[in-house]
Amino acid sequence: MNLEIVTIGTELLLGFTIDTNGAEIAQTLAAIGGRVTRRTSVPDRSEDIQDAVSAALKRTGRVITTGGLGPTRDDITKQCIAALLGRPLEFHDDIWQELVARYSRFGRIPSESNRSQAEVPRGAMVLPNPRGSAPGIWIEDPRGLVVMLPGVPGEMRGLMREEVAPRLAVRVSGSIIQSRTLRATGIPESSLAELLGDIEEAIAPITLAYLPGLDGVDLRLTAWDLAPVNAESQLATGAALIRERAGEHIYGEGEADLAAMVLDEARRRGSRLAVAESCTGGLVGSRLTAIPGASDVFVGGVIAYEDEVKMRELGVPAMDIQTHGAVSEAVVRRMVTGVAARFNADLAMAVTGIAGPTGGSEAKPVGLVWFGSLASGHVLAQQHVFPGPRENVRARSAQAVLFQLYKRLLKGG
Ligand code: AMP
Ligand code: MG
Repeated sequence: MNLEIVTIGTELLLGFTIDTNGAEIAQTLAAIGGRVTRRTSVPDRSEDIQDAVSAALKRTGRVITTGGLGPTRDDITKQCIAALLGRPLEFHDDIWQELVARYSRFGRIPSESNRSQAEVPRGAMVLPNPRGSAPGIWIEDPRGLVVMLPGVPGEMRGLMREEVAPRLAVRVSGSIIQSRTLRATGIPESSLAELLGDIEEAIAPITLAYLPGLDGVDLRLTAWDLAPVNAESQLATGAALIRERAGEHIYGEGEADLAAMVLDEARRRGSRLAVAESCTGGLVGSRLTAIPGASDVFVGGVIAYEDEVKMRELGVPAMDIQTHGAVSEAVVRRMVTGVAARFNADLAMAVTGIAGPTGGSEAKPVGLVWFGSLASGHVLAQQHVFPGPRENVRARSAQAVLFQLYKRLLKGG
């Protein structure tokens, strides 16, 4: 079942509001087998709204809109679409009474302008919206199906889940669009693609998308228009093949977060974990403490930015800094052992690097980072040159040191 989405609101075109509604609706539809073939955003302007809806109806015969159902003068979606379909607006007293009751719960009386929210195009079905004052509208017209939803994301979401998706699902003959995402890190997209080889042919009709980000590359497998059991089993086959070819780079699925996974492994060992951070300035600690329950494993850390602090707080010998520089294997090793000793921790991580944009040299370019960890009494240190601007180098460094420690914990060492 193909559908189009039209999101309406001048704020979307100005870029003040990001069109999260379009993305969420697409995801909800995919889960029931609805394929979104186009998303259009238009301002609160009569011609633009009518153009977009009428073109979408010509192409697919199904369109979902959001936005422009409010009581203010700039909200004109309902009027425009009613006019486009040649349906007069009719005042529904039951909607109005509902609105009056809703307002009175907040000690308010609706204004004259709210009356427009009780108007419904002739022949349309009203989708009740318990979260707000604008109901959704469902119109089955000879030209196709038009569903209008409010722009407020929470209201749109509620209506989509409770009213729209169930009604569409029964029309889709039981097939769904389902995705499964494997998360890889520590390997560039192109190298990953080489490892996976001709996998697209092997997993067809499942499709594979490479989605690179600061935490690594997400590999999203998608099953299109299959019965749920088939989708499930074909996705499982695809995921198994990816793991077979690139398993060492895959750390989890879906929303998997290495910080949480490190904490889980550390918790299993009854460990105490500490961090020493230079160029990441607390990012590693921040990612760990973002996870609920971090406190039974994570004890604390030192942001050792200045050389003096590395020496005084972590016991890095001045000699090491003079001889090798602050971004060096010798220093990162001392940071790891220093912070572990200071916090009486058996697990530790440390990062020191050149985040840029300045401070690089021929021998030590911008993006060069040394990161290391302590586990089972041994320190492992690695270096890497991370691409991108400062924030990318920092984020990638945090992910890299978490991945290093996680792999060691998994192997038991
Ligand atoms: P409206 O229903 O047009 O009055 O929209 C109400 C509010 O919902 C706007 O002020 C936006 O903040 C928000 N909104 C509207 N459209 C979208 C959209 N496509 N994605 C996310 N938020 C939206
Ligand atoms: Mg609006």
